[in-house]
Amino acid sequence: MDGVLRGNGTKVVATISTDPFFFVTRKDDMEVMAPLNEAMRQILLNHPSYLAHLYDSYLNISSDVPVVFTRSECRWLATKPAIRVAYSREQDMMDPEFGGNFLYAFLKMLERQSGIRFEFLPQPSYDACLKALADGTADIMPDVYPQLSFLRSQNIFSGRTFYNALITVVGRLHDKNIPGQSCTVGFTREMRSVMLAYQSTYPEDTPKIFPNIDACRKAFEKGEVDVYLWPYPAASLQDDPPKDGLLLPTRAMYPMALGISPHASPLVTSVLDKVITSTTTATIDALLLSVAPDSLLDVIRRFLRRNLVETLCGLGLLLGLIMLLVMRHNRRRLTDLRAAALTDPVTQGPNRARFLMDAAKILQKDPRRYYLSTINIRKLKLINRACGLRTGDSLIRFCNREFALRSRQGELAAYSGSGRYLLLWKCPDETTFTQRMEELCSVADMARKLYQRPVSFSCGVYVIRNDADMEEHEPQPTSGTGKNINESMSFVSRYLLYAETAEASIASGGYRSQFLIYNELIGARQLKANDIENRMVNALEHGEFTVFMQPQVCLADRKLIGAEALIRWQGPDGKMVYPDEFIPLFEQNGFIRELDLFVLDTVCAWIRRRLDEGKKVPPISINQSKALFFHDNYVETVLGIAARHDVPAHLLHVEVTESMAWLDEEAFIRTLDALRRAGIGLSLDDFGKGYSSMAMLHSFGFDTIKLDRAFLAPGQEKQRSVWIIISSLVDMARRLGIEILCEGVETEDQLQKLLASHCKYGQGYLFSPPMDLETFDAYVDAHELERK
Ligand code: C2E
Ligand code: CA
Ligand code: CA
Repeated sequence: MDGVLRGNGTKVVATISTDPFFFVTRKDDMEVMAPLNEAMRQILLNHPSYLAHLYDSYLNISSDVPVVFTRSECRWLATKPAIRVAYSREQDMMDPEFGGNFLYAFLKMLERQSGIRFEFLPQPSYDACLKALADGTADIMPDVYPQLSFLRSQNIFSGRTFYNALITVVGRLHDKNIPGQSCTVGFTREMRSVMLAYQSTYPEDTPKIFPNIDACRKAFEKGEVDVYLWPYPAASLQDDPPKDGLLLPTRAMYPMALGISPHASPLVTSVLDKVITSTTTATIDALLLSVAPDSLLDVIRRFLRRNLVETLCGLGLLLGLIMLLVMRHNRRRLTDLRAAALTDPVTQGPNRARFLMDAAKILQKDPRRYYLSTINIRKLKLINRACGLRTGDSLIRFCNREFALRSRQGELAAYSGSGRYLLLWKCPDETTFTQRMEELCSVADMARKLYQRPVSFSCGVYVIRNDADMEEHEPQPTSGTGKNINESMSFVSRYLLYAETAEASIASGGYRSQFLIYNELIGARQLKANDIENRMVNALEHGEFTVFMQPQVCLADRKLIGAEALIRWQGPDGKMVYPDEFIPLFEQNGFIRELDLFVLDTVCAWIRRRLDEGKKVPPISINQSKALFFHDNYVETVLGIAARHDVPAHLLHVEVTESMAWLDEEAFIRTLDALRRAGIGLSLDDFGKGYSSMAMLHSFGFDTIKLDRAFLAPGQEKQRSVWIIISSLVDMARRLGIEILCEGVETEDQLQKLLASHCKYGQGYLFSPPMDLETFDAYVDAHELERK
């Protein structure tokens, strides 16, 4: 499953560049998920290069999904059934004697994948094939139009569509009679199915049927038809376009499906359909490419079949000449095709495939001191959305040009799509490379001026060393040992993965361009992040997350005024993971929402229990992530959970940080208002960390401001100015009617200074560390409660 679709009951299998792939299971299917989770975890831990290998196999066009047959299908296949294939002698794409034709190649593939054996029965015409199926003298035929009324009229069935061929016609350049304009269209009898497909898109056109393609062409030359049908799928790959006409693609598609006899065993349909379903479009495309007439033999055969009389009459010399011309033409077209496959459509420059090939060649010769970089235009999607695709494309081309200009001879620069570029640079040392990269990042400033948009790059770099002291696990292509290019390419893919990993570790959203060079630490961090992501959903279901409470006290008498709920993760191995390690990750992947709701639910349950037991209950503060806070129906969700446990709103506080207001101030205010109206307390967390604004103090109506523990950080508390700031803040807040609570109080000395600054409330190890709910129960029982 593609990464953007993830939801409950999915799990990451692999992260290939930026898009993760997932297994999908039924929700709550622990029988599958638990072993899967464990297997993935083991794989990632034991095989650090697992992702790289995956990547390699994704890059070299991979084989299709394996087909799984049912037991009865297997039994039937074990008898090595022979299936009779009726095909028309006139069918160009189906000629086992000559081979190399698309339909024939396709059937051969079906044979290989299914284990069925095909017996080919040539028929005089397409109609004869249809009849053979209806009579049961043959089991299948290679292509029919899978439309119900047609199939019924012929008394046959069809398999799944295996290829959607774009219907192409031959027309004249300046002719007004084009498909869809009531024109007359020439078809051959062989193309009966294609004609039906054509008519369903262009019912206003009049079909005319001819015995063969030559007759079609002649009628076209004489003006008897406006256009005639070109008989090959993927027209551009087949044969030469006619000399007197132009290949015109139409909007009509011909869905090709196997024709199946009603007398054939139902297993024929089920087995062949399964193979067809498991065949990727990439495989079909590759088949089409492979049957393009690229060998000399193919060309001669085709030519001989088409122009037998002329050829026989012609002289040997002429034949040789023609063949030479055909070959040259053919080769040129093949070169064009290959060039197109290696060119990026937006920049018209080299694409990723080209880059990989060229890089492999360069590195094969001498891999030393090369730097492989990926450069990503940040937020290209936003730019596209705000300014339109055309501006986005123009920006892409601009950067492409500038990057190419900054690359030297023997170096590479390519656009790999989705706003990402690839560079292979050679630099004698890291200083030189850094200078060049900084220069390259200045392209962002140029683009910013030019497009009036905040353009910046994030770049990941992998340094290809090949030193003698290289470690074993990081193999490199060695020069001059004659290793093949495929192996070399797989190395490049792996380096690219390292560079992408480095790029992914750069915090996003920066305004300045940044680059990061891959090192072991980054790799390890990525592995760890992967490990955490793999374990998180399970962990929540298995109760590995628990809620701890840290008391908040009145500084003067240490009476309890409330507590902050803090999440803890204790794995099955008993090891405690602290929030700083997973919260940033969960904020990225959205899991924090579930976690925050879990905390709220646990806290509410705890409050309910105490209320039921008739015990005292302090208000509990809960940290809210932005992912949750800005989610639809957030306030309803929170109130719903409180209501479910019948917990009065005033016993709940939410802690938010000021950076959340930057995201969407309007929504921020709206949500805070709604919470306040419902009676929930509001605290501003981490005040003074980062950029704090005084406006925060009054414009959002917070009940409590929590001074960040950075104020009390070692060294800080000695500075007189810190205490001046704290006492002024306390003073200002008091006058605004807002309480101030200082976080991270650890020493008696800090306490005294806070008291001297008239700060009333505090939280910190001096009073108590966060503790589990059971310990906290006892703590609350033993301490006096003060109402703020
Ligand atoms: P925070 O909201 O600023 O939470 C206070 C952190 O300071 C807690 O770290 C707490 O254990 C720690 N702390 C308390 N007293 C002292 C002290 O005297 N000295 C020092 N040095 N530290 C003290 P913790 O539990 O590791 O949480 C870290 C951060 O993770 C929290 O910072 C909060 O931003 C986030 N977090 C924790 N639980 C949750 C949660 O349930 N949901 C969300 N969204 N975030 C949470
Ligand atoms: Ca907090
Ligand atoms: Ca805090």
